[in-house]
Amino acid sequence: MPGILFIISAPSGSGKSTLVGELRKFVEGLEFSVSYTTRAPRGSEEDGREYHFTTRDRFEGMIADDAFLEWAEVFGNYYGTARSALSLAAEHGRDLILDIDVQGAMQVMDRVPSAVSIFIMPPSPLVLETRLRNRSAAEHMTDESVIERRLHQAHGELEYVARYQFAIVNDVLDTAAAEMRAVVLQARGDADASVAALADSCRTASSSARLQAVLDQFSSSS
Ligand code: ADP
Ligand code: 5GP
Repeated sequence: MPGILFIISAPSGSGKSTLVGELRKFVEGLEFSVSYTTRAPRGSEEDGREYHFTTRDRFEGMIADDAFLEWAEVFGNYYGTARSALSLAAEHGRDLILDIDVQGAMQVMDRVPSAVSIFIMPPSPLVLETRLRNRSAAEHMTDESVIERRLHQAHGELEYVARYQFAIVNDVLDTAAAEMRAVVLQARGDADASVAALADSCRTASSSARLQAVLDQFSSSS
């Protein structure tokens, strides 16, 4: 039986990796797709764990061989999900999480209409900037141009939120993590009434005023 495919996207610095880490702790039976990328490993990243690190030549060879379910160029590097990630998760009978950018997400939504899509939003431009700066400082990478580029990119990415089924505003971590868990359990049909209500409150269709308030702050800051 193929499992459920979850697509998760967020502007860089919104807290997606942190939330996905929480999901790993509290929800069983999830497999996390390891993407291919041409960017260099950062910090303690290991080949085959966070990413399959590869060269532009090899990546382009895989594109030519139609080996990717989706791929995109993000911040000047290629990123892609191998088709084999899906078949492997299906073989293991597990649900698969794709942590991919908005361009890749649009491709997967077209190709796998049953996929459940979740967009993670920062609560405000100021919070996003603070998180990006704190993370850069912690990684000793205080390149101002990288932060500026990510903030600029966030504006464009946020315009895609309405294309996702669910949106989670990552303000208080525990709340956002509980919402993410609720969305996964509901998709599996494992949610009780209160968990299902929490998941429903994250549907983009039912939370448009809340989302618009965040989007308005980003529009007025650009
Ligand atoms: P992303 O994966 O979306 O690029 P990260 O998970 O690396 O983002 O988070 C960016 C920074 O914000 C990190 O330093 C992380 O510890 C912090 N962070 C994430 N979520 C929250 C939250 N809800 N409240 C406060 N800080 C957070
Ligand atoms: P980072 O370099 O910070 O790990 O990731 C940068 C961006 O690339 C993030 O938005 C992340 O979601 C996205 N990304 C990671 N893997 C893939 C992938 O396989 N496909 C696509 N389209 N985007 C990806």
